[in-house]
Amino acid sequence: MIGKPDRVLALGAHPDDVEIGVGGTLAKHADCGAEVTVAVLTSFPENTEDARWAEAERAAEALGVDIELLDVPADRRRFERPLVGRLDDLLGRYDPDAVFTHWLHDSHQDHVNLTRAVLAATRKNRRSVYMYEPMTPGGIVAESFDPQLYVDVSATVDRKFAALRAHASQVAKHGDGWLDGIEGRSRFRGFQVGTTHAEAFEVVKAVERG
Ligand SMILES: [Zn+2]
Repeated sequence: MIGKPDRVLALGAHPDDVEIGVGGTLAKHADCGAEVTVAVLTSFPENTEDARWAEAERAAEALGVDIELLDVPADRRRFERPLVGRLDDLLGRYDPDAVFTHWLHDSHQDHVNLTRAVLAATRKNRRSVYMYEPMTPGGIVAESFDPQLYVDVSATVDRKFAALRAHASQVAKHGDGWLDGIEGRSRFRGFQVGTTHAEAFEVVKAVERG
């Protein structure tokens, strides 16, 4: 992370997206006293909205962050004015210094539409915007993730995995290989920068306000 933000907002289209991509970093900022909020577009899919939302709340508790469900219906999860308007409202209410969102080239349309809307909603360039790594599981795409920012999450990685295990339905769905894969990436990113665990981000813009 560049600087120490007072307020952090992490956006994910679905429950568990944020935990996979930026969970350790969020816990780290919460430990440093930042107000950290996770906002999730929808508890879709699988028609188990209540169960998945309960998992998301337990995951947020494990990370020590707040969480808000935006509950945007499928026909509004598009890069159009209504979604940008919801994000304008969200940014106005939380006034974050740092915003985390999906990678722009992720294979899932909800992820991409959300990030395009985030880039529109941060058009005044008052906030840093970082994109976390593409989802796992997720489709392989033609573009390559090219991180410029690495955050050492060795001290909080246990809470990241506690948060991931809170998504019990997803652990059951994907199997232990899911968690092993996320841990492998965490260790790989850590080794690249000489530590044990790290999360990596593409920097859209890094802004330090006075
Ligand atoms: Zn997702």
